[in-house]
Amino acid sequence: MGLFDGKKGLVFGIANDRSIAAAIARELHREGAEMGFTHLPDADPNRPKSENRLRKVVGDWNPQLVMPCDVQDESSLDAVFSAARETFGSIDFLVHSIAYAPLEDLQKPVHEVSRSGFSLSMEVSVFSLIDLVNRVKPLMSEGGSILTMTYLGGEIVIPGYNLMGLCKAALESSVKYLAHELGQSRIRVIAVSAGPLRTLAASAVGDFQKMTKLYEAFSPMRRNVEFDEVGKTGMFLLSDMSSGITGENVHVDCGYHVMGGPPLDADE
Ligand code: NAD
Repeated sequence: MGLFDGKKGLVFGIANDRSIAAAIARELHREGAEMGFTHLPDADPNRPKSENRLRKVVGDWNPQLVMPCDVQDESSLDAVFSAARETFGSIDFLVHSIAYAPLEDLQKPVHEVSRSGFSLSMEVSVFSLIDLVNRVKPLMSEGGSILTMTYLGGEIVIPGYNLMGLCKAALESSVKYLAHELGQSRIRVIAVSAGPLRTLAASAVGDFQKMTKLYEAFSPMRRNVEFDEVGKTGMFLLSDMSSGITGENVHVDCGYHVMGGPPLDADE
């Protein structure tokens, strides 16, 4: 018997098999969850690259709902939630694993970021969670769980994380306010703060190799986190096993966030 037998959910943010949302969805599927998935809209319907990449990950599970969705586009969101209502009736969990910032703004120091780049990044990376929560709430009449993905750069300065750090700070604050507002409806809202994982989104942020080396040298476990560890924690936090947890920011980073300085055995 699986932890998610009879449970239905929506997963936003699988770009390919290396996406964090894919790692979470794999664990949910293993536990018996039924899921609907979205991908970025494809410009050319004859070459549906995003849809194909998503289907490569989830196709074998025969999902009943696979749809395009741009969180900036109200009509695509309306279509997804109306299809979700028709297909599933009610929803038990939702995964929000979405972030975006224009590269030119992401690579700038924060004080040089453009007005439009700031708004766009906050809209896609933060408002999208608020909007999805608002849209899924009526479908979670029996309660539910909502998970989003964040990074330590939202709590402390991680050089190179720049504008995305501001977005993650706002996202983490949103998690707390949303958890407060939805707690009495038995809806839990939680963030997972993952250590650096080589994904499409991560390739836009700072010096990835340098970051993973830091985790290997500084974290209490002297290694970086693995995809399936983030997947399993995500699944646990969405499951009834974590029924007393909400508003939390759960670090899955081999303990890196607790260190205030290098371990004494770290190389110079
Ligand atoms: P990813 O590139 O696989 O996933 C990012 C997803 O965001 C993609 O599926 C993309 O399609 C989606 N997206 C972007 N703009 C969108 C829009 N307008 N509408 C709908 N979807 C949109 O990379 P990932 O690393 O798996 O990122 C998932 C989440 O995890 C992000 O919030 C990221 O900040 C966070 N995170 C990543 C790491 C890491 O090291 N990779 C660490 C901590 C947190």
